[in-house]
Parts: sequence; C-alpha cells; structure tokens
Amino acid sequence: SGDDEPRSVPYKVILLGDGAVGKTSIAMRFSQDHFAQSYKQTIGVDFFHKHIELPNGQRVALQIWDIGGQSIGGKMIGNYIYGAHAVLLCYDITNYQSFQDVEDWLRLVRRTFANETMPLVALVGNKVDLAHMRTVRSTKHNQFCDENDATPFFLCAKNGENVNTCFFKLAAMLAGVA
Ligand code: GDP
Repeated sequence: SGDDEPRSVPYKVILLGDGAVGKTSIAMRFSQDHFAQSYKQTIGVDFFHKHIELPNGQRVALQIWDIGGQSIGGKMIGNYIYGAHAVLLCYDITNYQSFQDVEDWLRLVRRTFANETMPLVALVGNKVDLAHMRTVRSTKHNQFCDENDATPFFLCAKNGENVNTCFFKLAAMLAGVA
C-alpha cells in the first residue's frame, strides 16, 4: 500500500544552543564523520543532508541545520527554527551557563511553534570526553528532560561517541518506529 512508501521529504533537524557548545562539530561528525578543532563560522549557514537506514530497513532522510554563530536574538533564528521536525538543544557539560541557556532556546522554540505542533525535542549534553571537568550533573540533565518532555542524550563530537546513536534514535522517533 501507499503507506509503505518511504517518505521522500527530509525531516528538518536543527541544532540550537550557545556558541562553542559543539553544534557544528556534532553536525560535521554525523554528516561527514569528521572532527576539527575549529570550523569557519560560515559553515553554520549551511545544512547537510543525510540518508540513513533504520534497523527495520526503513530509509529516512534528514536535513540537518546548524545555526552556527547566530545568537539567541539573531534575526535569522526564526527561519532556522521554522518547520523543524526535531530540535537538538545542545550544551557543553563543562559549561553550566550553556545548560541554563537551554531554557531560553526552548522558550524560543515554543514561541515559534505557538500555534502549531511542537517538534521532537532532545537535550544533548556534549563533550563527555571532558567528564572530569563536568559542571552539569546528569540528574539535572534528566530532570530537564522529564519536565520538558525531551529525549536525553550525552555525546562527544570529538571522538564520535553516541553521535550516530543519537541521530538514529531521533530518526526512528520521527519515523514513528521508536
Ligand atoms: P558551536 O559554536 O556550538 O558550533 O561549537 P563548535 O562545533 O565550533 O565547537 C566549539 C569548540 O568546542 C571547538 O574548539 C571544538 O573543537 C570543541 N568541541 C566540540 N565538540 C567537542 C567535544 O565533544 N569534546 C571536546 N573536548 N571539544 C569539543
């Protein structure tokens, strides 16, 4: 039946969060399996396409948007958020401020979707390779997820830990099979 046709329109997945938490690194790690110590800010205005195959054989197309150096008050932010199917709220586990600011990013998403169905929301604690410098306890992380109906993830763009797992899980949730 037509219901078995793979969805050809990509899901829009956006990375939000303070500067330097690792959004571009996460996007590059997932889309190209690459990590660099620094990326040109201009990369941030791009988006990447990635096609993945779920364990059940279903193919899912993702369009991954990275807001790059845009700050929360940036003029283009609304355009990035608009139409998103999934939002990755990213912070750096060694930077408590970046975790606190996730609240503001989520508020902005809620405002953008005021009259529409909210996208899937994930909370992403990045830089777990720096766990010895962690300032955000995982209980805080999980509490935020419980309170805001967000899916919890910890990952490391630097060594790739959990990055694919995160996007595959989200893709499965978007496809309605998780
Ligand atoms: P963005 O501004 O949120 O896009 O952050 P970037 O991707 O540009 O990363 C900011 C800095 O954090 C860069 O120096 C990255 O190399 C570094 N970085 C990103 N992810 C990780 C990580 O998982 N571990 C460590 N140790 N550094 C990371």
